Amino acid sequence: MNFELINPQSFKELFLVLKKLKHRKYRYAAGCTDILIELKRNPEDDLTLVNLSQINDFKFRGISQTKNSVRLGAGVTANDIVRNLNIKLLYPVLWEAAYNLASTQIRQVATIGGNICTASPSGDITCALVSLDATCVIIGVHGKREIRIRDFFEGPRQTALKKGELLYEIIIPGNKKNTVKLFSSFIKIGTRRSMECSVVSIAYHIQIDGFNKILTSGFAIGAVAPTIRFTAKACDFINRKNINALTERDAESFALKVSEYSDPISDIRATRWYREKVLFNLSKSIIEDIIKCQIEVK
Ligand SMILES: Cc1cc2nc3c(=O)[nH]c(=O)nc-3n(C[C@H](O)[C@H](O)[C@H](O)COP(=O)(O)OP(=O)(O)OC[C@H]3O[C@@H](n4cnc5c(N)ncnc54)[C@H](O)[C@@H]3O)c2cc1C
Repeated sequence: MNFELINPQSFKELFLVLKKLKHRKYRYAAGCTDILIELKRNPEDDLTLVNLSQINDFKFRGISQTKNSVRLGAGVTANDIVRNLNIKLLYPVLWEAAYNLASTQIRQVATIGGNICTASPSGDITCALVSLDATCVIIGVHGKREIRIRDFFEGPRQTALKKGELLYEIIIPGNKKNTVKLFSSFIKIGTRRSMECSVVSIAYHIQIDGFNKILTSGFAIGAVAPTIRFTAKACDFINRKNINALTERDAESFALKVSEYSDPISDIRATRWYREKVLFNLSKSIIEDIIKCQIEVK
């Protein structure tokens, strides 16, 4: 592998570098857990790697809470998320996705920007962020723009980023004020428990008020389509329903609506048939768990 490495220390320096590289081939590197493997498999000639990990910028590296949102810099690592008790409390789905990613060593360097921008159909943190209806803040030589994370992926390994742009921040909307119960979790099915890409993954974040009404819900699926998908029709189906009124039939209808968003492949890890079955059964069981939980509360 042969490439030039540039280590900007600030965004001002980075943009000067990007202007100079306008007509050259370059890639960003953050924690390097994906890109080095990719470049080893498919070496690229005359490539410059622009290292983002030395950039000293609080927002890019930090997690902050505002009145209506939580903001995570793209340079935040999986372990930064695991250490953040606010995230654990407010967004268990995101905390669990980070906690279950790879190994301690990988989590220490793997960034959320890298997880998103690698645009893998099975990115764990990305799947959680899609379920939370997060927004990506993109900065570039021509300014700043925002895009919903569910619209950020254009295909496997393809994003909406244009040349000269990079992912700067992710904004997660705050939970609704009258939320009193959260059903929020990340489920990952793989051929083994760790250090393995998911065969199917599901991220969900369901907010319920004191009257047992579902205020809003987010449900995202990974490894079962070319990109991670937000299952909007399934969410619409349960939003504003009272969980006391949910039935077994609703659980099945919900799972069918989730399945509409899947289009899995058969590969070395699992067949299409298996992925479809697992997705359907897991989706159904999540609603069944909510139903059971309500019976216990009574
Ligand atoms: C052994 C092993 C196990 C793994 N297990 C898991 C797992 O369980 N779950 C999972 O989801 N992933 C897993 N991964 C994949 C990987 O660790 C994650 O995707 C990680 O979050 C990537 O982050 P990074 O900072 O290392 O990205 P990098 O490798 O540095 O970059 C990845 C891609 O994103 C681009 N990029 C990085 N930052 C930005 C930015 N701010 N703006 C624009 N582009 C950017 C790079 O150019 C590159 O194309 C595993 C990897 C390994 C090696």
